[in-house]
Amino acid sequence: MARVGLREWLAIAPVIASGKLSRYGNEDGGPLTRFERDFSAAFDVRHTLTVSSGTGALIAALVAAGIGPGDEVLVPAYTWIATAAAPLAVGAVPVLVEIDQTLTIDPQDILRKITPNTRAIIPVHMANMVCDMDSIMRIAREHGLLVIEDACQAVGLTYKGRRAGTIGDIGAFSFNQFKNISIGEGGAIVTNDDHLFARARMYHDIGSVFRGHLDNANEPLIPGINLKASQIQGAMLNVQLKKLDPMVRRMRCRYDAMAEILMSDSDLRVGPHNDPANAAGLHVIFDTESEAKAFAARNRRGVYRLHDSSRHVYTFWQPILEQRAVHPKMNPYAWADRKIDYSPNACARSLDILKRTCRIGLGENYPLPLIRYMAKKMTGQRSDDLQSLVTTPGVP
Ligand SMILES: *Cc1c(COP(=O)(O)O)cnc(C)c1O
Repeated sequence: MARVGLREWLAIAPVIASGKLSRYGNEDGGPLTRFERDFSAAFDVRHTLTVSSGTGALIAALVAAGIGPGDEVLVPAYTWIATAAAPLAVGAVPVLVEIDQTLTIDPQDILRKITPNTRAIIPVHMANMVCDMDSIMRIAREHGLLVIEDACQAVGLTYKGRRAGTIGDIGAFSFNQFKNISIGEGGAIVTNDDHLFARARMYHDIGSVFRGHLDNANEPLIPGINLKASQIQGAMLNVQLKKLDPMVRRMRCRYDAMAEILMSDSDLRVGPHNDPANAAGLHVIFDTESEAKAFAARNRRGVYRLHDSSRHVYTFWQPILEQRAVHPKMNPYAWADRKIDYSPNACARSLDILKRTCRIGLGENYPLPLIRYMAKKMTGQRSDDLQSLVTTPGVP
């Protein structure tokens, strides 16, 4: 995540001075419009719509796509809970799909989980690891399914030369505190489809009815809610967008430096990636759970076992597992065509992978020698501590 600092602070000052803090009411569209234009250009996509969060982006994308009661939406068993909650917000139900060793949704299991009620897939580019989009898009087209990419955790990453989030029918991004573009709270939707864009824009702004947009692609007006972002967010986003590509390059080069040492000098098994040439997320897979636990315990700095980040594992999504709704009469599970399986072993293979896998944080601001030192320590080639590295001249 790119740090928020002086540049963001300087960028919001003129917005405050202008008094024009809201989405609409600026003659030239203000910083938000500038951000959307620049993001569309950088991501090579026709439309970008800034919204208040990544969760809001997913919900607006589902609404735009016309997903609703009775529909099933395929989501991975390993993701932030918002991915699974978003279909519920529009009356549809999430169906859990296994991940594979790339830590992203398993295309083979997508095939097994498709029913006559399936309408959409939400592949999640998890922790800067991109999904197997070629297989996902092929399956989706063969079965008439929409693809809503959840690129919240992979803003700026690419899959075979295209930006994650711009390959499916709609993409959702988050700009919250922990994401690659980081402004506290925020999100965006991207699409090349004029109709999806018009519907998402109407849903994200109930006032849209009165705005006189002339580019609604002949879509009839729908009542929306309010997911609008403010111009303060827009001003910060313009600064953060400039930091994105250099940051992704730093992550890429730290991935290469560390993966090279882990792969050549040890029997650690670096996890596979759906686009190895653009890998920026690093994980190691062990044969047993206890080996993974021991590795995480030995390397506390930046290393954790995935199953221990429990909020991202389906077995911890309590309100969803219990199939609760905001109101009993608005319970999407009552509208579903069949009983949905959220039993603890619904995705046993994913649990097994998550229990045997450790993620290694790449610290995109760490100097490369430090990254190599950390890698060598993980492989047992060095045992000196970091303190000696700092205090001994000429090391490493
Ligand atoms: C962060 C995140 C979201 C939601 O984003 P918010 O901006 O926090 O609402 C959705 N999906 C994934 C995978 C995320 O990591």
